[in-house]
Amino acid sequence: MEIKTTILTGASVLLLTQTAAAQLVTYEDYQAVFDLDLAGRPAFETVQIEVEHVAGSFYSLRGEGGNIGVSIGDDGIIMVDDQFAPLSEKILAAIRSLSDEPIRFLINTHVHDDHVGGNANFSSEGATIVAQENVRIRMMQGIRGNPPSPQQAWPVVTFNDQIKLHLNGEDVWIIPSPPAHTDGDSFVFFRGSDVLHMGDVFRTTGYPNIDVGNGGTLEGTIAGLELGLALAGPDTKIVPGHGVVSTRAEVQELLNLTLEVRDRIAPLVERGMSFEEIVAAQPTADLDPRWGRRLDRFLPAIFLHLIDE
Ligand SMILES: [Zn+2]
Repeated sequence: MEIKTTILTGASVLLLTQTAAAQLVTYEDYQAVFDLDLAGRPAFETVQIEVEHVAGSFYSLRGEGGNIGVSIGDDGIIMVDDQFAPLSEKILAAIRSLSDEPIRFLINTHVHDDHVGGNANFSSEGATIVAQENVRIRMMQGIRGNPPSPQQAWPVVTFNDQIKLHLNGEDVWIIPSPPAHTDGDSFVFFRGSDVLHMGDVFRTTGYPNIDVGNGGTLEGTIAGLELGLALAGPDTKIVPGHGVVSTRAEVQELLNLTLEVRDRIAPLVERGMSFEEIVAAQPTADLDPRWGRRLDRFLPAIFLHLIDE
């Protein structure tokens, strides 16, 4: 199968010092190369791709990593994000269960590898990769001290202002978010289907994940969630980067939570408490059972923002 060859090529590029692999990249290989937070994730070999019809021509694919969006029609397929490279073959098979049309465009919501890991494989399939300019810049540099992504994985269409695609009788708005989760976040709004994919700016699985090392900010997270609310209508289905398909109510809930935690921590910073003292004071103890995932990235981002004010 063509894509398998591509995966092997991608693997040897990505793994650099590894000898030519005789099989797909393993979970351990990936973890070693990318230093990913993969604790508790299943081995890629066991991952199944689930397909959910969201609305209109839009489907959400779930496997391991960020939620994938797929919009199908006679003009071809638009994809949003592509999870990890070792899953590309399974993801392509799931897409082929929906449509045999070519994958015309692949939009990256941001640079993290659980959203763009399959880029090289899908560009080999003919997809034109589209992302905010900072996504390409960070891929060319390599993120988290890792080597640059293979050139085949880099976005070839980049933008800093909203752009639109017009395919399958539908307008698709690609909208840069203020720097929220990273400094290359984008939302993708399928206007005809009334589906908004917000990438990792919006998640239903825990506190906002603000990756300060890749340009994420608290103020951008607040502004990004507000932008999502401004875009979405009463019936808009909102796809999070991680978690379940939602509506405005869940985005509002995450925004309220973000403001609440900020307002709890502000007086502690005002009193001159150190970051360690604030963590020890457990200011979010009542919220953590529901939202505790990624507190390690949320609290530092809030603290950095507040001491800066
Ligand atoms: Zn992410």
